[in-house]
Amino acid sequence: MANGSLSSIPVGTELHGVIVRGYGLYYDVAIDGIEGEVLRCTLRGMLKRQRRRTDPAAVGDRVRATMTTPETPEGDPPEGVIEEILPRVRALSRLARGTQDVEQVIVANPDQLVAVFAIREPEPHPRLIDRFLLIAEARDLSAIICFNKADLADPGDVDALAEPYRPAGYPIVTTSARTGEGIDELKGMLAGKITAFAGPSGVGKSSLLNAIAPERAERTGEVSQATGKGRHTTTWTTLFRVAPDTWVADTPGIRALRLWGVQPDELDRLYPEFRPHLDACYYADCRHINEPGCAILAAVESGEIHPARYESYRSFVENDE
Ligand code: GDP
Ligand code: ZN
Repeated sequence: MANGSLSSIPVGTELHGVIVRGYGLYYDVAIDGIEGEVLRCTLRGMLKRQRRRTDPAAVGDRVRATMTTPETPEGDPPEGVIEEILPRVRALSRLARGTQDVEQVIVANPDQLVAVFAIREPEPHPRLIDRFLLIAEARDLSAIICFNKADLADPGDVDALAEPYRPAGYPIVTTSARTGEGIDELKGMLAGKITAFAGPSGVGKSSLLNAIAPERAERTGEVSQATGKGRHTTTWTTLFRVAPDTWVADTPGIRALRLWGVQPDELDRLYPEFRPHLDACYYADCRHINEPGCAILAAVESGEIHPARYESYRSFVENDE
């Protein structure tokens, strides 16, 4: 069905795709093999009742859908219904406001997270970098660190920022949304995946996403024409297509994520460079603060763990965040 169009699909046809945007009762589904348009769908009532503790459907969910209404002669787009949501492999989520146990999904099934920081303007905050990496690790997502605004960097800036993360093995990419430096390299890291972009505001996430997914730049223009309010009205996560199986998501609100569900005694496993040493501590329940025979403290001493990362670990444990 490659390069097909929705208007050529008969009513009743079973379709497969991914939810790219939600608007309350409606979900836009990108149908496999069809580019440049989405099928506006509602959700079968039983699907809403099946999942009480989480969003019944979320951006990033893979779905089976049926076309229900063809395009009208007046040119109103066709509509469909979501029949089935395929099992979610993982999710970036937060607690729904005002609840103790209801999950609000920011994006379903992300494969990886790109943590975007500016080399300067605003100055990156190492603890904040680590917080994003911990969110990724806790959700079983691989993480990439992107240092943007390379055009503002002095020689040595990037090396100094990147050094603490080398032992952890995180891929690090340096970009400039302004000059285009590093954009192709970053794009190459996205192929075939759903990637969530996260980072503090002002670092250039929107600019990077527009450079990577031209469709996004167009959409943003449309929104501001339609509402006069521009992209700041965009609070829903949206998936943008970069290539047939390659999606990027801007993830508003991730920055405020608490590490819910992460116990202090699990934190050490979320630092990849700690993992090879964890079984070597003398005490099985070592917190790696001041215990004798601690293999983590020894690894900091020997340079296998960067002191800045160790200090970050300690601050998260001690503040019980
Ligand atoms: P967001 O809040 O992370 O989405 O950041 P924006 O994409 O809105 O960018 C914030 C500001 O930084 C804007 O004024 C951009 O023009 C600027 N900006 C974005 N990327 C770069 C870059 O690579 N270099 C420089 N010098 N400025 C950039
Ligand atoms: Zn220890």
